[in-house]
Amino acid sequence: MPTVAYVGLGANLGDPRQTLIQAFAELALIPGVLQCTPSRLYGSIPVDAVGPQFVNAVARLTTHLSPLELLDALQGIEDRHGRLRPHRNAPRTLDLDLLLYDAVQTETPSLTIPHPRMHLRAFVLKPLAELAPGLALRQGRVEDLLGQCAEQEVWPLV
Ligand code: ADP
Ligand code: MG
Repeated sequence: MPTVAYVGLGANLGDPRQTLIQAFAELALIPGVLQCTPSRLYGSIPVDAVGPQFVNAVARLTTHLSPLELLDALQGIEDRHGRLRPHRNAPRTLDLDLLLYDAVQTETPSLTIPHPRMHLRAFVLKPLAELAPGLALRQGRVEDLLGQCAEQEVWPLV
């Protein structure tokens, strides 16, 4: 049985919208990914970070890959988009975070799922609520969590 996983996408350097549209296509082409359903694109103000506005989105994947295989594939896509890591929260051409992998909970140096900060970030919760209305995280329903970070500006892009 394939697993449902959610991936958070973000970019604030280069041409972020184009990068995210291309990244959706690349996610769909990962060997072992059966289906990729993209959310709309959203604009957001950087949280805990500096630099230009972000473009964010979430993709729902169905996959046969393990969490670590999927993370590896995500990092391969980031690298192909010229992702550099000068310091934590630096501006980035493309950030792909594994948010959820079925109901799996794991905490290792290379991978923590559910993503430890996703429930605090409107730029994750808004596109996630679009793809999975009513989804329950450990901390609560996506819509309720979104209400708790209402001060974070996130808007749909047309
Ligand atoms: P951030 O996304 O927090 O700004 P990075 O994208 O630079 O940071 O990721 C740093 C490291 O986080 C990666 O090397 C990766 O191994 C680790 N990591 C741990 N959990 C996850 C996850 N759920 N999704 C993506 N990366 C993760
Ligand atoms: Mg990341």
